[in-house]
Amino acid sequence: AREDLFQAQKMEAIGQLTGGIAHDFNNLLMAVLGSLEILKKRMPEDPSLVPLLDNAMQGAERGVALVQRMLTYSRKQNLNMTAVGVPQVIADMMELIPRSIGASISFETNFEEALPPVVTDPVQLETAILNLIVNARDAMPDGGSISVRADAVPGLAGLSPDAAFVRISVSDTGEGMDTETLQHATTPFFTTKGVGKGTGLGLSMVQGLAEQSGGRLLIESTKGKGTTVSLVLPAADADADETPANESLPGTRTC
Ligand code: ADP
Repeated sequence: AREDLFQAQKMEAIGQLTGGIAHDFNNLLMAVLGSLEILKKRMPEDPSLVPLLDNAMQGAERGVALVQRMLTYSRKQNLNMTAVGVPQVIADMMELIPRSIGASISFETNFEEALPPVVTDPVQLETAILNLIVNARDAMPDGGSISVRADAVPGLAGLSPDAAFVRISVSDTGEGMDTETLQHATTPFFTTKGVGKGTGLGLSMVQGLAEQSGGRLLIESTKGKGTTVSLVLPAADADADETPANESLPGTRTC
């Protein structure tokens, strides 16, 4: 199991490295595209140059698409699907959490009794929950409270109405999101945190994990009031030893 954890952490590090490279490449290509667009607009009247610029722009656009695919691919690997207890996962993180959120933010947990285990990658789940907690912290520069709850949900409308799921929700009393932010929150590289502060990869990672596990990510947010991000994951089947198939499902958004 230690080997597995090491391997998973290595894959995570590779994934982060890939994500970092993808991020830098994306920025470079965006700068190239922006410059070419200006050139095209202001170019002196020489029509023979237009196809050259169009070529260059198409190349840069293809580069952007490739970078996005690379990122998706780096995430899709080596999920170690296991049945894990959510309270245990949080308990294992309890040394990390106070250090991550600082003293001006209170933290509480609330788990439904007899909560079934979830089926997902335990190391990725820790990373995902930590991502959500760090986002909650960042939304509360003047302090506030974070609450992590977990409860069983009987089925997911439009997804698997008959299967059992567990919902892990991270709520904060922070600044909330406006409509535009809410709409783009899970898009890779989308961040409102400024250069050097946010990577814009946190929520896209969490959504990737949810979908690869056969669940989904839900975001509810009110500007000025706070945000709840819910990671809904399949519950382990109480009667069977086998874990459910690892299907990929479309993402959703609630506003
Ligand atoms: P990052 O944290 O690096 O910006 P994420 O993908 O985790 O990247 O988040 C994208 C954006 O979504 C953030 O920049 C922020 O605008 C918004 N966001 C995420 N979580 C919250 C939250 N709990 N409260 C308010 N806004 C949030």
